[in-house]
Amino acid sequence: MKFIDEFRDGKLARGLAVAIRQSARDDRDYHFMEFCGGHTHAISRYGVSDLLPANVRMIHGPGCPVCVLPIGRIDMAIRLARDAGVILCSYGDTLRVPASGGLSLLKAKAGLGSRSASHGEHHGDIRMVYSAADALAVAQQNPDREVVFFAIGFETTTPPTAVVIKRAQALGLRNFSVLCCHVLTPSAIASILESPEVRQWGSVPLDGFIGPAHVSTIIGSRPYEFFAEEYRKPVVIAGFEPLDVMQAILMLLRQVNDGRALVENEFSRAVTRDGNRKAQQLVAEVFELRRSFAWRGLGELPYSALRIRKSFADFDAERRFAIGYQAVADHLACECGAILRGVKRPQECRIFGSVCTPENPVGSCMVSSEGACAAHYSFGRFADAAAVQ
Ligand code: SF4
Repeated sequence: MKFIDEFRDGKLARGLAVAIRQSARDDRDYHFMEFCGGHTHAISRYGVSDLLPANVRMIHGPGCPVCVLPIGRIDMAIRLARDAGVILCSYGDTLRVPASGGLSLLKAKAGLGSRSASHGEHHGDIRMVYSAADALAVAQQNPDREVVFFAIGFETTTPPTAVVIKRAQALGLRNFSVLCCHVLTPSAIASILESPEVRQWGSVPLDGFIGPAHVSTIIGSRPYEFFAEEYRKPVVIAGFEPLDVMQAILMLLRQVNDGRALVENEFSRAVTRDGNRKAQQLVAEVFELRRSFAWRGLGELPYSALRIRKSFADFDAERRFAIGYQAVADHLACECGAILRGVKRPQECRIFGSVCTPENPVGSCMVSSEGACAAHYSFGRFADAAAVQ
């Protein structure tokens, strides 16, 4: 297979659906979590769930980078733009994540809420960038301004951030720094497996995971071996195309039926056991583990995120501007926390699709196309409506 169409072939999908139906035993249910927002999007967009038998259920996981950003971190970025007067650069979805007081970076850019005591009186100079390198270029073009790159994401986006920090140091740039909010996949999986819903109460039954695609190209398949061995949960790493996902579900079913709990790699065209060693070394050179980091929905998780090492302290916005994180509770009606833990589904939130929509997101899961609520709003809500009729 060479082209993307081949991974979306309807005939092959129907064949896989038959194989899945034949493999799913009638006397039990199967619950698989797709960790990654990219898989959540693919499952919703291509209607993969509709091809599965009723006793095979997919549970959305917390692997959407903007969904897991807590409100307090967005507030930090807004404070930097407004109170410290920096040029704040970040990816497009990040600008739309709800912050405190009904704000977001996009609204702060427009000057909304600018008279609130906590955010000062200035419009924020907030700019959307497509890459970390774009943010570095903004710093080079504005030598008289402080430029901060608000860096978010899992292991896939961390190496490019490390590259620009090293590059800024090599160039001797004195007006560039990074607000580092990079988080780690294995810690989030461990948190789910250790949660009371999974371990004690059994309210989130989990028979296995579809492992991330892009993240695994960096970290490899080895880190998941611990979960397979220690928790007896099979993991199948899969690509983001619909046939990848269906093949992974079939592989998980076969493992569960055979009583196996192994890491298998469906995405072997891009993922190896050891991952990208060069990228890993680069990340280790620039970043170190944070002792603790707050995730939306999952709470404070030990050693679950990265911070910039002392040897690159000049490029660490948290040190440079002496700003700290303050926890802020989510909107009272928002169920993002429960959705990110696999406890609830988007349609179980009472403001889903009414007060909360992609145009006016109340919670973070409605912002990005990888968010469970946004994916269900775009592709799944019509099926809900048809089921009611
Ligand atoms: S629909 Fe909106 S408010 Fe409800 S859980 Fe999803 S993101 Fe949060």
